[in-house]
Amino acid sequence: MISQLPSIVFGFIYFDPLYFLVVGPAFLLAIWAQMRVKSSFHRWSQVPLGSGWTGAQVAQKVCEMGGATGIQIEMTPGQLSDHYDPRERVLRLSADNYNGRSVAAAAIAAHEAGHAIQHATRYPMLALRSAYVPAASLGSWFAFPMLFAGMIFRYPPLIYIGIALFSAVVLFQLITLPVEFDASARAKRVLADSGIISDEEEMGGVRSVLGAAALTYVAATIQAVLTLLYYLWRSGLLGRR
Ligand SMILES: [Zn+2]
Repeated sequence: MISQLPSIVFGFIYFDPLYFLVVGPAFLLAIWAQMRVKSSFHRWSQVPLGSGWTGAQVAQKVCEMGGATGIQIEMTPGQLSDHYDPRERVLRLSADNYNGRSVAAAAIAAHEAGHAIQHATRYPMLALRSAYVPAASLGSWFAFPMLFAGMIFRYPPLIYIGIALFSAVVLFQLITLPVEFDASARAKRVLADSGIISDEEEMGGVRSVLGAAALTYVAATIQAVLTLLYYLWRSGLLGRR
């Protein structure tokens, strides 16, 4: 995920009450979402999967059933570092999820497999998101320095460039949302169809883990949109006629 730290630093430097009023609630929502992911994952990682599959096996099976063939499944260091790498066509799972035979491990593995299926079936939003990564990275690196320089030197064109760059970050967040929701929807479908998950309690666990993860993306997007609105208003581009 692309960092929004600069915008938060920005708010602190100016200590603008409006910034905290506008972005504060979204920031709290983001923290709450992070806590929910951790607690949901913790809870469901202690519930063993009835079918006894490991996360790695789940990922393999979901990929196959979804039409994503030839995907390498690997172990990667770190916690919740799971991801699908479209360039190398490698699905990487953290050790807990790779070896784990829990409901949480199956949920995460199936979600990442969902991204592999999106890639294999040329799901347009994923292609758009991948194509858009360079612009979003540029935006997240340079939006804050531009805004900051523009404020210090009281030079509006720099502020406008900063806002344009930040808009690229916001757009990236917006494109990310359907990609994440779609990956989870595919995961749930294949988990049920394949028989990896057969009882309602386990499915409830999968929904809880993936729902909490989705909420973090929603919170990040709300935060980005509100921060953009704040910049637009502060710069005089919005309101204040
Ligand atoms: Zn994802």
